[in-house]
Amino acid sequence: MDLVPLCGNPISMLLWIEPERRGVMLKGLHFLLTYACTLECDHCFVYGSPTAPGTFSVSQIREALDEAVRMGGIEWIYFEGGEPFLYYALLLEGLRLAGVMGFKTGVVTNAYFATTEEDAELWLYPLAESGLADCAISDDAFHFGTEQETPAKRALRAARRLGLSSDTICIEQPTVGVASRGADERGAPIIQGGAMFRGRAVEKLAAGLPRRPWHELTDCPYEDLAAPGRVHLDAYGNVHLCQGLCMGNMWQTPLSELAENYDPQAHPICGPLLRGGPARLAEEHALPHADAYVDACHFCYALRLSLLDRFPQCLAPRQVYGLR
Ligand code: SF4
Repeated sequence: MDLVPLCGNPISMLLWIEPERRGVMLKGLHFLLTYACTLECDHCFVYGSPTAPGTFSVSQIREALDEAVRMGGIEWIYFEGGEPFLYYALLLEGLRLAGVMGFKTGVVTNAYFATTEEDAELWLYPLAESGLADCAISDDAFHFGTEQETPAKRALRAARRLGLSSDTICIEQPTVGVASRGADERGAPIIQGGAMFRGRAVEKLAAGLPRRPWHELTDCPYEDLAAPGRVHLDAYGNVHLCQGLCMGNMWQTPLSELAENYDPQAHPICGPLLRGGPARLAEEHALPHADAYVDACHFCYALRLSLLDRFPQCLAPRQVYGLR
């Protein structure tokens, strides 16, 4: 919590007020370089697919990176998607520009290009040359079924041979386990596997899972909406705090201004979420809802869907809600 003194003398220094929280100091920008992907995974929270539109141009990347410099404080630039290797020349240029500007860089990929280890090396070598600091590779059954020798494993071995810092991201089919922590939680069903119930995951994975009463879902479990450390950017200009939940549009208002003026409590979606999670979001906007949801994200996403037309600037693009 930031505190400010009421005035400078030693006695009144004992009195403090909490200032209005406004503006945010970001450390990372994640480019959703494209929403297009080679795959159409059930757990994808941005509805990536081979037909998904929405890819950056090189001048848009340049503009966003210039804003990153203007803002100060940004350390990391990531390129992800969708599948960023689908726009390989653009990816390389984005990495080069970010490197020249002094940012650390990372990519997230499904490694579809790794037909052999030698080929994987061919694709990854220019990234290593650009100074890439982190290579995250999706390797799970959603991406590759039950194959043992996956493109991701080939890419990981190639990346390590090239000296790239790399790791895998593994999300599993949701299963029901039993909580073992805390007296209240012990024995309660929990969802395991790491899938987030937003986007296509809601449509494809939520059916049949145990649900919690809506009034228990009183906080946002995964995003720091009051002081986000990173945001995702898409080619339409949306600056995402969580997938489809936006701070604003950087093609309408420069990113540095959006960050400087971000007022989480005044945001029509983040404000209620901060005050009491999805339950409060439903109450403040008087939204109809079901009695129970898989988790807070499932509830939040369902509510946001019903608010799309009321807050098109804050809830965008429609395609990450499965709409066109
Ligand atoms: S509760 Fe909503 S804003 Fe928070 S992480 Fe889940 S979907 Fe995102």
